[in-house]
Amino acid sequence: MKKIALLGATGSIGTNTVDVVLAYPERFQIVSLTFHSNSDKGAQLIEQLKPQYVGVGSQAMKTDLASRFPEVEFGVGETGLVKAATLEAVDVVLTAVTGSVGLNPTMAAIDAGKNIALANKETLVMAGQWVMAAALKKNVTILPVDSEHSAIFQCLQGQKEGSVKELVITASGGSFRDLTREELESVTLEQALKHPNWSMGKKITIDSSTMMNKGLEVIEAHWLFGTDYDKIKVVLHKESIVHSMIVLKDGAYLAQLGPSDMREPIQYALTYPTRLPIKNEKKFDLTEIGQLNFEPMDFDRFPMLALAFTVGKKGGAYPTVYNAANEIAATAFIEGKISYLQIEQLVQRAVDNYSETTEVTLTEVIEIDKQTRTIVERWIKEEGQL
Ligand code: NAD
Ligand code: MG
Repeated sequence: MKKIALLGATGSIGTNTVDVVLAYPERFQIVSLTFHSNSDKGAQLIEQLKPQYVGVGSQAMKTDLASRFPEVEFGVGETGLVKAATLEAVDVVLTAVTGSVGLNPTMAAIDAGKNIALANKETLVMAGQWVMAAALKKNVTILPVDSEHSAIFQCLQGQKEGSVKELVITASGGSFRDLTREELESVTLEQALKHPNWSMGKKITIDSSTMMNKGLEVIEAHWLFGTDYDKIKVVLHKESIVHSMIVLKDGAYLAQLGPSDMREPIQYALTYPTRLPIKNEKKFDLTEIGQLNFEPMDFDRFPMLALAFTVGKKGGAYPTVYNAANEIAATAFIEGKISYLQIEQLVQRAVDNYSETTEVTLTEVIEIDKQTRTIVERWIKEEGQL
């Protein structure tokens, strides 16, 4: 029986994880879970999964739910996330919260020797160096949940060290892949939230359209697989059928293909190296799909992807700034405070505004993350709608 802590249980990844867990009740048990809002859905999950411990977003939620579920222990905010992730019974922590709020519970879980199934890519972008070092020290495995990284991880199975030439991450292009930069000036939130291939949380859907998501994934791949940025390529693949590829030294390409169904990478991260059937599998027929297309990424059209390589290569807290500015800007766009193109303007401005001369520590990185948020929030207040 694998005992799971599910951080971000009410979200898109959280819901898919619950599906996987409920399909194999003899194999998986969710012993702790967290959610930030959506108390109704949270209460349903508590009834369904009967966790020992639940982390919630506010004291009011705790008071309400504790009276309804007296047998469950509740915690609030970051304390709740950390406790859920480090509970004695937990074997693996599936990190499905959005944003760098995932850092502390992930670090605490690693410290407590828990394995990590990582969906929360922002944590690795913000502090990959420290997260990976802590995992190495504690002999903890970090298995990818992100579909591209799961694909690469699957392709890497059985490859000898030193035999990989390149990683090739595929990008669907997001909601606005066929629009010109001029056309982007007037796009709305509603349009941005219509992803062509995947149904996901709001922030990652916006990130997919700005190509921030692919930028975050490039940095995520760098840390997960220890690959130099020069050996990470991104190609536009509108069908999202090939989830990603590796290129070997002899020129062989290995690709992982499948339907757009997050239950697959989630389940693989939980059962690795075992393979199990997916219950109610999505239909997948290559003869119906017929054609797969690949195109080069246009770095001028998607400046946030180009910027990911720049901040990634610079290292230190540059990726932290890139991520933090985007978290604030994407949220401001979702809340109707800024226009679409302001997202990337704010991220670019935050990165330009930052300079680093000496090596940074994790404590400093956490501080830089906070400062960046404050600065970008101030810019949004000062400028308003551009
Ligand atoms: P979502 O918005 O659907 O769900 C987010 C979850 O985190 C919810 O349970 C919410 O209550 C919780 N949460 C939000 N803010 C919080 C806070 N401040 N403190 C504590 N909890 C908070 O998001 P999602 O689409 O499920 O994505 C979750 C993570 O997985 C993100 O890092 C995303 O990049 C990554 N990811 C998602 C997908 C996908 O298909 N949705 C694919 C790959 C990676
Ligand atoms: Mg992905």
